[in-house]
Amino acid sequence: MKRDNAIFDIIDEERQRQMKGIELIASENFVSEQVMQAMGSCLTNKYAEGYPGKRYYGGCEVVDKSENIAIDRLKEIFGAEWANVQPHSGAQANMAVFMAVLNPGDKFLGLNLSHGGHLSHGSPVNFSGLMFKPLEYGVKEDTGYIDYDMMEEVALRERPKLIIGGASAYSREWDYARMRKIADEIGAIFMVDMAHPAGLIAAGLLENPLKYAHIVTSTTHKTLRGPRGGIILLGKDFDNPWGKTTPKGEIKKMSALLDSAVFPGVQGGPLEHVIAAKAVSFGEVLQPEYKEYQKQVKKNASVMAQAFMDKGYKIVSNGTDNHCILIDLRTKFPDLTGKVAEKALVQADITANKNMVPFDSRSPFQTSGIRLGTPAITTRGAKEDLMLEIVEMVDTVLANPENDNIIKSVREKVNATMKAYPLFAY
Ligand code: PLP
Repeated sequence: MKRDNAIFDIIDEERQRQMKGIELIASENFVSEQVMQAMGSCLTNKYAEGYPGKRYYGGCEVVDKSENIAIDRLKEIFGAEWANVQPHSGAQANMAVFMAVLNPGDKFLGLNLSHGGHLSHGSPVNFSGLMFKPLEYGVKEDTGYIDYDMMEEVALRERPKLIIGGASAYSREWDYARMRKIADEIGAIFMVDMAHPAGLIAAGLLENPLKYAHIVTSTTHKTLRGPRGGIILLGKDFDNPWGKTTPKGEIKKMSALLDSAVFPGVQGGPLEHVIAAKAVSFGEVLQPEYKEYQKQVKKNASVMAQAFMDKGYKIVSNGTDNHCILIDLRTKFPDLTGKVAEKALVQADITANKNMVPFDSRSPFQTSGIRLGTPAITTRGAKEDLMLEIVEMVDTVLANPENDNIIKSVREKVNATMKAYPLFAY
């Protein structure tokens, strides 16, 4: 068949863009060739509604095997009792949990969106805010750390049925034990959405929320470094530190609820090619070098955060425990919005995104912050020395967001630098 130039030229163009630039979007990463091969395989042709061994279509014996491998590897990585690998995305994994444990109109408690929470944790334009009643906790203005006292106060007063931990722009470790205690006080379900730090958790570099939460969701494509998608997990539970053990039967009941919330609740046929790619990426997580990669992700982020602070930038919470750095531009450049900063950086082939900062004085379309992350650049082999160079380049652009000549010279440096950090084998 004739090559579809309209599309394949665009794919080539995107490949060039990825190769020549510095990728600092905290939620992005570069998957391996094998992960991409699995995604681009004949498994895309197969309908497999249902679950391994219990499908609504014939001919699923083969994809049953890859879905089972994905489940087994995922359980091994996080020490989970049960896993569902079918959610098409993180938001759909969260939607399935809402569907399994709440009724429309029920109250739940999540992190304020402008303090780092995700759309699916209660935004008024998302299913979570449209169909359920969101309550929120935030971070403390002086420290940038989660305000657990506020969380407890809202929880005791409002008695939500679900409490959600996890965020899209929060750089610090979570006190899952305290959250579980709060949930237990009011008999709420405690769910953690570990989409952002999942890779660091998988490598044992951050606390594993499965030890505390009733339900854990995640995306597979951020720090974890798999294909785009979602997952849901249940921990060994519920023998938590307070001895309130849930019988095995409860896990069975909850997993059955979650399975049917994913399919047929919010999805139809699973993407078996993506599930196979998830399995490949989970196999990579289980290799010893993965831990080294994640250690470097974390090291790079803390070196980068410190280098920005040394230059007088305000980093929310004054540093990072994970892969993510949230810069509050107002201290160093009071007139520079996140929107203008993002645009200037993109012109220099440095990709980052504008982001609200806690207690932001600007709208979500302008913002006073930018969010940076190290998972993607670390996959390309970057170490601390490159972080220092990147901080210099970002600083030059942010100090001169309207100066085309300076931006052009940074872009040339970015493109020359990235030649030494190979990305694709072809
Ligand atoms: N949960 C968190 C914490 C996220 O940051 C994101 C995406 O950024 C999601 C869920 C949604 O994932 P997806 O884009 O795959 O729906």
